[in-house]
Amino acid sequence: MQKISCPDCRKTFIWTDAMSFKGKCPTVDCEWTYDIHRELKKSVTQKEDEARQIIRCPQCHEPIDAKVTLCKHCGEVIIGSRSFKKKYLFIVVAVILVLLSLIYKFR
Ligand SMILES: [Zn+2]
Ligand SMILES: [Zn+2]
Repeated sequence: MQKISCPDCRKTFIWTDAMSFKGKCPTVDCEWTYDIHRELKKSVTQKEDEARQIIRCPQCHEPIDAKVTLCKHCGEVIIGSRSFKKKYLFIVVAVILVLLSLIYKFR
């Protein structure tokens, strides 16, 4: 049993021993294929990272300083588990500002 999260449709599914080692994401219309060995390795790394409190860049998987930062390895803007190209940063900031203004308006 291994929980796999699909990077394409962002859904998670459970891999069981009855399934093949490699295969397609069970989501209809999603073309992503999983590799159970890769996923197992990834989850081990993830657990080690959690124990050592390491946050990794979702883009290049190098360790980064904070959840919201600019990755010094690939130059991507990291917000939580997502990354953005630098040129999209102003769009992200604009969206955040709009969301904040909505939150304050409806309070
Ligand atoms: Zn998928
Ligand atoms: Zn990076």
